[in-house]
Amino acid sequence: MAKVPGSADAIRDQFGPHLNFEPAGGWQHESQHAPDKLVKTHCCFCGQQCGIQLKVRDNRVVGFEPWEEFPFNQGMLCPKGVKRYLQSGHPDRLLDPLMRTDAGFRPTTWDEALGTTVRRLRELQAKYGRDAVAVYGGASLTTEKAYLVGKFARVALGTRHIDYNGRLCMVSAGTAYKPAFGADRSPIPWSDIPKAQVLLVIGANVGECAPITTSYIWRCRDRGGQLIVVDPRFTPIARNADLYLPVRPGTDLQLLMGMLHIVLRDGLENRAFIEAHTTGFEAVAESVKPYDPRAVAERTGVPPEAIERAAHMFAKAERAILLHARGLEHHSKGVENCSAAINLCLATGHFGREGSGCAMITGQGNGQGGREHGQKCDQLPGQRSIDDPKAREHVARVWGISPEELPGAGYSAVEIMEAIHRGEIKGLLSICFNPLVSLPDATFTREALERLEFFGVIDFFLSETAQHADVVLAGSLQEEEEGVVCTAEGRVVHIRKAVDPPGNARGDASIFCDLAARLGKGQYFPYREPREIFEELREASRGGIADYYGITYERLDREMGVFWPCPSEDHPGTPRLFEGGVSMHADGKCRFQLTPWRESGDPVDADYPVYLTTGRVVSQYLSGTQTRRIGALVEQYPEPRVEIHPRLAATFDVDTGDLVTVTTRRTELTLPCAVVKTIRPDTVFIPYHWAGDKSANRLTHRTIDPRSKIPEFKVSACRLAKAGQAHAQLPTATGASRV
Ligand code: SF4
Repeated sequence: MAKVPGSADAIRDQFGPHLNFEPAGGWQHESQHAPDKLVKTHCCFCGQQCGIQLKVRDNRVVGFEPWEEFPFNQGMLCPKGVKRYLQSGHPDRLLDPLMRTDAGFRPTTWDEALGTTVRRLRELQAKYGRDAVAVYGGASLTTEKAYLVGKFARVALGTRHIDYNGRLCMVSAGTAYKPAFGADRSPIPWSDIPKAQVLLVIGANVGECAPITTSYIWRCRDRGGQLIVVDPRFTPIARNADLYLPVRPGTDLQLLMGMLHIVLRDGLENRAFIEAHTTGFEAVAESVKPYDPRAVAERTGVPPEAIERAAHMFAKAERAILLHARGLEHHSKGVENCSAAINLCLATGHFGREGSGCAMITGQGNGQGGREHGQKCDQLPGQRSIDDPKAREHVARVWGISPEELPGAGYSAVEIMEAIHRGEIKGLLSICFNPLVSLPDATFTREALERLEFFGVIDFFLSETAQHADVVLAGSLQEEEEGVVCTAEGRVVHIRKAVDPPGNARGDASIFCDLAARLGKGQYFPYREPREIFEELREASRGGIADYYGITYERLDREMGVFWPCPSEDHPGTPRLFEGGVSMHADGKCRFQLTPWRESGDPVDADYPVYLTTGRVVSQYLSGTQTRRIGALVEQYPEPRVEIHPRLAATFDVDTGDLVTVTTRRTELTLPCAVVKTIRPDTVFIPYHWAGDKSANRLTHRTIDPRSKIPEFKVSACRLAKAGQAHAQLPTATGASRV
C-alpha cells in the first residue's frame, strides 16, 4: 500500500519543502569568487524557455547572467527565471535513491532500488497483465527524455497506459488545431505579435503566466496596435487593454460564437479567404445564427455593446492575432472553445500571413516538445497518431520491433488515476509529475495513490506525490542533462548541460536505460548520452508532422533554435506555419469545426451559487515542487488566498485577511481572502500551486473534455462562508508579507 510512511512532520523535516535564499557558499563567497564558466541555456520554469546564462562554480549553479543575444527574450527574465539557480545545491535535493520503511524512507544503493522496481513491476504484470502497470511522464522533461519515457513504456514494459502532466496544460488547443490545420503547434512565431493591428487575448493571464510575452504585446501597442482582453479577472494585461470583456467562467464559447454571429450578420467575413482556403464554413455559419448578442450578453455577463465592438475591431483590422491559454482550454468543452477561436480567425481571414493568426501560449516548460514525441497516450514520435498503421510501421521500424508489438492508445492522465482508484491499474512509475497537487479532486487522487500495489518515482525533490512511493530514484534537474525543448512559439532550442547530478543522483535517461536493461530490453535502449537519443528521435520523427529530421544540436547553437517542421539539414525551419492559408491536410484546406454548446461539468445552482476558478501566480511554477523551495519566490506570495470582489465579500462580511471557507461538491477549504476589484462579483479565484490543506485542487472536479481529456479547472461551483478573523501572514498586493 502506498500510504505516506511515518509522520508528516518527520518527512517534512527531512525532505522539505525548506526555503533556500542563497547560492551555494552564500552571498559573500559568491561576490568574491568568479564563476568557472557561464553556460548558455534556457529557463526551465515555463514554456517560453527564455535564454539565460548559468554561472557555474565547483559543479554548482551559483547564479545567472542575462543572455542578451538570444532573440526571444533578449536578456529579459521574470522573477522565476532570476531565481531558478537557487535549486542547485538545495538542501532538499535527493542525493540517493530511497526505499520506503515503516518510519519513512532510507537511502539505498542503485542496485537495490532498480532491482526492486523491476521485480515489482514484473510481478504485477505477470499477475494482472501488462496494462496493469502505467507510466506518468512530465512536460518539463527534455524532448529526449519525453521520447525515452514513451518508448520505455511501450517497448520495455509493453503497456499502453503512458500519459503525462502536459494533459493538464494545452491539449485542448492541440486537439482543436490538429483537425483544423493538420498540426498541433502555434501557427505563428512571436515576432508576428507586434505586427498585428488588433490583439485579442482570451483566457491568458499573460503578465503572470507568460511574462515575457507581455513585452511582445507592448511592442504591438507601441506600434499603434489595439488590445482586447477576455477574462473573468481583470488581470495585469487587462489593465492596459483598449477593451476588456469580463466573461463569466465557462461561457467563452458563447462569446466567440456571438462574435462570429456579428461578423457574419454585418458582412465582415473574408469571403475570398473562406472560399480559397477553407471547408465547413456553411455549417458553422448556420450554427452561430442563434447567438444574437443580447442573448449572448445575458449568458456571458458581457455587455452586448462590448461584444459588438470587439467583433468589429477584430474583423475590420487588416492584421489581427488571437492569443489564448488555459483560461480558454481548461474546460470540459475546451476543444470547442479553441475551435470557436479558430473559426473566428478563419472567417475573418486572419490566418497564414505576417501579423495575423491564432496561437496557444504553452505553459509548461516543454509542454510543446513533451507531447510531440511519444509520452502522450495517443501519439507516437513526430506527432503521429498511434492508430495510423503507417505511423506504427515507421516507428516500429526505427525501434527495431514489429508494429504488432506496439501497444495501442491508452488512458489519459486523469483516466489513469481513475483506473488506479478502481483497481484496474496496480503499479505506477512516474517521473517529474506531482498529481497530488496538480490533478483535480485531490482527495480522490490520494485515495488512488494509497491503493497502488507498487509506486516508483523518479524525481529530484520528494514531492507530495513521491511521499507515497515505495522506491524513489534520485534523478536530475534540467541543467544536469543535455537535450532539446520546443518553446511556445515552436522553436526547438538546446538545453546545455551545466553541472553533473550531485551525490548519487543520476541522469534520468540513464535510469530508464538501466531499468530497460534489467527488464531484458537493453538492446532497444543502448544510449550512452542524450545526443544518441536525439539522433534516433530525428529518424523517428522523419516524415511526421513534427519533423525534426533536419535539426542537429550544432544547428540549434548556431541558429539560436530552429522551428519545426525541418525535414532536412539544408531546410531553414518553419517559423510561420500554414503560410498563405495552406494547411498541412492533404487538400491544403483549413477546416471550420462545429462547436456545440454544453454546460460545465459542475454547474452553479442555489446550493453552490458562486464560480470558482483556479490558476497560477507569477512566482510559482505548476505544482510548486521546485518553486515552493525558493525563498525569494515564496516570499512574494507565501500561501494561496481567495480573491473575492468587494460586493461578494460584503455579503459575507469578510475583509482582506479574514478566513473564508470555500465549499464545493467535493469538500471544503479554509484560506485567507483578498478583497480585490479585479474579479467578477460572481466568481472567486484560488491559485493551485500548494498541497494538503492549501490545495485548491481538493475543490475541483474530475470532469474532462471528452476529446482532449483536459480537466475543467476553470469552472467549479462553490459557496462561501466567513471562517475567522484576520490572518497574520497575508501577502499584500505588492508582494511583501503583512505580519
Ligand atoms: S518567462 Fe518563463 S522562461 Fe522566461 S524567465 Fe520567466 S519563467 Fe523563465
